Amino acid sequence: MVSGKAYVASVFEKVKEQNAHEEEFLQAVEEVFDSLVPVFDQYPQYIEENLLERLVEPERIVSFRVPWVDDKGQVRVNRGYRVQFSSAIGPYKGGLRFHPSVNQSIVKFLGFEQIFKNSLTGQPIGGGKGGSNFDPKGKSDLEIMRFTQSFMTELHKHIGPDTDVPAGDIGVGGREIGYLFGQYKRLKGYENGVLTGKGLTYGGSLARTEATGYGVVYFAEQMLKSRGQELAGKTAIVSGSGNVAIYATEKLHELGAKVVAVSDSSGYVYHEAGIDLDLLKDLKEVKRARISAYVDTHSDAVFTPAGGDSIWTIKADLAFPCATQNELNEDDAKALITNGVSAVAEGANMPSTLKAVAAFHEAGVAFGPAKAANAGGVAVSALEMAQNSSRTAWSFEEVDGKLKEIMTDIYHHSAEAAEAFDAKGNLVVGANIAGFLKVAEAMSAQGIV
Ligand code: GLU
Repeated sequence: MVSGKAYVASVFEKVKEQNAHEEEFLQAVEEVFDSLVPVFDQYPQYIEENLLERLVEPERIVSFRVPWVDDKGQVRVNRGYRVQFSSAIGPYKGGLRFHPSVNQSIVKFLGFEQIFKNSLTGQPIGGGKGGSNFDPKGKSDLEIMRFTQSFMTELHKHIGPDTDVPAGDIGVGGREIGYLFGQYKRLKGYENGVLTGKGLTYGGSLARTEATGYGVVYFAEQMLKSRGQELAGKTAIVSGSGNVAIYATEKLHELGAKVVAVSDSSGYVYHEAGIDLDLLKDLKEVKRARISAYVDTHSDAVFTPAGGDSIWTIKADLAFPCATQNELNEDDAKALITNGVSAVAEGANMPSTLKAVAAFHEAGVAFGPAKAANAGGVAVSALEMAQNSSRTAWSFEEVDGKLKEIMTDIYHHSAEAAEAFDAKGNLVVGANIAGFLKVAEAMSAQGIV
């Protein structure tokens, strides 16, 4: 029988060969594969079942044309995707991303991550992801509506409350989910549980909006606790200024930490006195303005345009990358380490490069990987599905309480798995293994499918 190391290496070679140009996908796969070597030594039957090669091949990828008409009457075309990666433990579940960078590699990396993340939540949800290279920036409400209606006109053929349940991601928030839901209903009839992240008036869950941001802070709280530290009194950098960043900032402030910087693609704002959350919400949730406008209200804050010093050069105790993939590289990690950062928790998906993660581990920084630390959003999506199925609505406190419990469990399961597989303190290894084991057992029980 081949060793775990040889098996994993041989599958990775095939994956590289077959997906040669899918850089982000290969990055996500490499990180998981590195963690899983000892698992295959312990469970050689998974080698016999060639489980890894099956898992890394999406069950299905749908790619489709999205034609729409802009406000000037011009016909535009974008490309839409849905990757249905794994239904081993439940219906495909994962968000939709609307951003010009979206391509097959991006949706595959996100869908792959989602398998393990969703498994870690303890909820019965499989992994999927989708989106389009449509750029919502600068589009009118009507353009957004026409685009999302066209997108759903194809997507509805592939999804359903018990098969595949999309939600939001970058560029897809409450407004877009509303339009998507409206169009689905028109095409297929009322099926409440087909999307999550819905508005509260038509089946959404309280605390879903806050869930990813709150969850990443609950996770960081556990990481600090295991080292005898707490959030109160700490300073933090939160990159991004979307839904995850805003609610991470809200929870950090509530728990006595101070966020001193936030960003968007135009640059970042440093505000030593602490980020003004009401202003941030008004700029981003109401006005959809650039973050540079922040300094118009606070003259003691400093705006640094993109291309200048990175946000990670700021001195702070904690770092929460909540913007996008590969936003934090090895140099950024070194700058944070030099400035004495004690914990990093990922709110975005795969925001740190592999080298950045290695640098954090080497320096002994507590590091919470995305698939564990940002699982709060999809966890509450699963709670939204549960409420929809039982035709009930839980209170904010009830959902938030469950979220906190889920994040605490994810932390402990990841820490325990790391320790059991000789990687104490390495939550990347722990999260990958803990997420994988449940999926592997389910796959193994269901035969060669
Ligand atoms: N897009 C979010 C994520 O990366 C949430 C997905 C969901 O709620 O289905 O996990």
